[in-house]
Order: sequence, then C-alpha cells, then structure tokens
Amino acid sequence: MHRFEYLEPTTLDECAQMLAAHQEKARLLAGGTDLIIQMEQRKRKPEVVIYAMRVPELSGIRVNADGSVRIGATTTLREIETSPVIKEKFPVLSYAASTVGSVQIRNLATIGGNVCNASPAGDTLPPLLVLGTQARMQSVRGERVVPLEAVFTGPGQTCLAPDEFLVELIIPAEAVNLSALYYKQCVRQAMDIAVVGVGVAVKRHNGTCEDVRIALGAVAPIPFRAKTAEEVVRGQEVNARLIQQAAERAQAESRPIDDVRGSAAFRREMVLRLVRRGLNQLLRVNG
Ligand SMILES: Cc1cc2nc3c(=O)[nH]c(=O)nc-3n(C[C@H](O)[C@H](O)[C@H](O)COP(=O)(O)OP(=O)(O)OC[C@H]3O[C@@H](n4cnc5c(N)ncnc54)[C@H](O)[C@@H]3O)c2cc1C
Repeated sequence: MHRFEYLEPTTLDECAQMLAAHQEKARLLAGGTDLIIQMEQRKRKPEVVIYAMRVPELSGIRVNADGSVRIGATTTLREIETSPVIKEKFPVLSYAASTVGSVQIRNLATIGGNVCNASPAGDTLPPLLVLGTQARMQSVRGERVVPLEAVFTGPGQTCLAPDEFLVELIIPAEAVNLSALYYKQCVRQAMDIAVVGVGVAVKRHNGTCEDVRIALGAVAPIPFRAKTAEEVVRGQEVNARLIQQAAERAQAESRPIDDVRGSAAFRREMVLRLVRRGLNQLLRVNG
C-alpha cells in the first residue's frame, strides 16, 4: 500500500477543518471494509486518511423529539441489525443490514460507509430510500440536509463536496407507518453482493394503497426509486393487473449491465418478479 498521512479528529469541527485543509487529497476512513481494500488494490490513493471513528457525534441511533430517527454515519451495520429501536420501527433496515457480509464485516462496516461508497449494490440503500431517508452533511462552510436519493451521482460517486462529510441519516417519523421489505437476490447463500436488490414499502388503508415506494439496487449505475412504477399503484385499489403493470414499469426503469454475477437479462427478469412479489406480499393480492 502507498504511504499516506493519518489523522484522527475527535470532534465534528476538527474533522471538517482537516477535510477543508486537504480537500480531494483526503479520504474519510470509517470501518475500512471498502476503502482499505480499494487502497490495497490501488483504486484509491488518498494522501491523507482521516479516521472518523473517534468522533462521538458521528455515531449512535437516537429517536428525535419529532419521532424521526437519526442514525450517525459511523454506526456499524451490526448495531443497526441488533438495535431494538431499528428492529421495532424499521425492521426492513435491520434485516438489510443483517444481509451484509459476515458478523465480522458488520462489526466494522458502517452505514455511512455503505452510503458514501455508493455502490449500486449497497444493501442498506434500497431500504433507506423507501423509508424516505435524509442525509445531513457538514463542512467548514456549514451543513446541509438532502434527500438520500440526491446523494448518489454515479457508481462510487456522491454529491458530497471534497471538503464535506456525512454526519447522520434521518428517517422521518411517518416512515413507521409503512410496511416494507427488502429482497436480496445473490448467487451464493452468504457473503455475497446483491445481483439485484429490491426494496418495497407501502401504506395501505381500507384496501387502497395510500402510499408506495419502490427502490432498486444493482440494476443501474446508482440505487434509485422506480417512480413511474410507484405511480401505477399509488392511491389505487390495487389488483393483480395493476401490480403486474407496476412491476413491468420497474423493469423498464432498470438499466442493468452484464457482469460476473449475472446477465442484464437475468437482472431485468428478477426486477419484474421481485417487485411483483413484494407488492403482492405487502398488499396481500393473490395472483
Ligand atoms: C468480505 C466483504 C463482504 C461485503 N459484503 C457486502 C454486502 O453483502 N453488502 C454490502 O452492501 N456491502 C458489502 N461489503 C462492502 C462494505 O462492507 C460496506 O459497503 C460497508 O458498509 C462500508 O462501510 P465502512 O465503514 O467499512 O466504509 P469505509 O471503507 O471506511 O468507507 C467507504 C467509503 O465511504 C467514505 N466514507 C465513509 N464514511 C464517510 C462519511 N461519514 N462521510 C463521507 N465519506 C465517508 C470513505 O471515504 C470511503 O470512500 C462487503 C465488504 C467486504 C470486505
């Protein structure tokens, strides 16, 4: 591995100042389960590595006064998987976290790392998208909050400026009213990256689908909300025909590639089947 300067901030301000001083030469290090491997493979060569795990304000899960839940960027996936708050309010996120790698990986890997690594196949990303998550970022210039879907700009790329870092994710209070699920289609049973990831969330009232969110992973350069598919079922008294139509729209919105894990055609077929299955399961429509 190349030589680099190593810094350890202990406050948010220190972290912001270090990033401001070194800009694109610097990279934040959290659990290192992506970054260290990328450095070993010489895909990334930061001259300055800023270790984020000693900043207390970056970690932890808290219910805010307004009922929203904040998850600090350096909260590990194991903490999210086992957190009573997340299990009770957003079991879909707890489940998605549990599908990442192994316990050893999840003890190191953080949710901020999963977001900022911006892999189209990141497992927590479709669930976070369907829950309507917001991302709070900070720099010496101040802070800003953006919808998570605006964070991803390309494979491995985010909207974060070189001097900015992710502080926390905020899941709005109303997301507790959603029923949600995540399907991870992979080649192996364990320790595998998703070939297709599908997150679905619905709010149902008296047979009507009041709200719906569908998010797709590993089938486009970024994880994204399949909004034209959502429009088919939102506000409707749902039946099998509408669900089929929504699944077909989601399929049409996906732009998968062929790679070692699966062909584009296989991925497209799985989007159709998993979106249909998810909507059927959550809306209890047979056929
Ligand atoms: C064996 C193995 C199996 C894996 N299996 C899976 C899997 O099944 N599913 C899956 O989704 N992933 C998987 N991964 C990938 C990885 O574990 C996750 O993406 C993890 O969440 C990354 O978190 P981290 O804390 O290790 O990030 P790091 O490696 O520390 O950082 C990742 C990137 O995010 C940036 N970053 C981190 N925190 C911040 C922040 N607060 N602000 C700004 N930038 C930040 C870093 O600069 C870096 O570019 C696997 C990795 C390994 C090694």
